[in-house]
Amino acid sequence: MQCVSLFSGSGGNAIFVKRGESKMLVDAGVSFRRLALALQGLGEDICALDGVFFTHEHSDHIGALGMLLKKTSLPFYLDAACAEGAYDTLLTKDPSLAAEFVRRVRTVEAGADYEIGELCLTPFALPHDSAACLGAVFSNDNGDKQLGIATDLGEMTTESRRALYGCSAVILESNHDVQMLTDGPYPPYLQERILS
Ligand SMILES: [Zn+2]
Repeated sequence: MQCVSLFSGSGGNAIFVKRGESKMLVDAGVSFRRLALALQGLGEDICALDGVFFTHEHSDHIGALGMLLKKTSLPFYLDAACAEGAYDTLLTKDPSLAAEFVRRVRTVEAGADYEIGELCLTPFALPHDSAACLGAVFSNDNGDKQLGIATDLGEMTTESRRALYGCSAVILESNHDVQMLTDGPYPPYLQERILS
């Protein structure tokens, strides 16, 4: 299994995961153009992926959704509550895109296994202030956990610890430095949210 963290941070997130002939993105939070170029740099065609798993519906994770709907035929894997949030946002912008989104959504649940080509994905619940938030564990055919991904990890819960336990590799996104945050450009409400 291969993985590449293409983009990380509040400007946008995207991780490329590949096993055998199967390839997908975990999150697509930057522009379609930047995503396509980053994948091109790896020799990959964004239209030839097997799908996109969205951890949650915040814009730094789902920003390319509109263009992915327009430019590709990829399926999207996400929690039902997050899908509802994304649908509502699309509906206010372009009802035809919202209808197309419904056709392409495959809702997923924490604890269940999903086979996406040669990739076996097991989502798990993460604490975050979105409609829901899912981490991802990818396993091989023997059930060995090869890769765990946890974004926006504000606190290590028993559930996330259990899910990530035994993974050969883990990608964590969980970054704030109190001094940098309070000295930085974020408005007070956002500083409070991050510090909480
Ligand atoms: Zn978020």
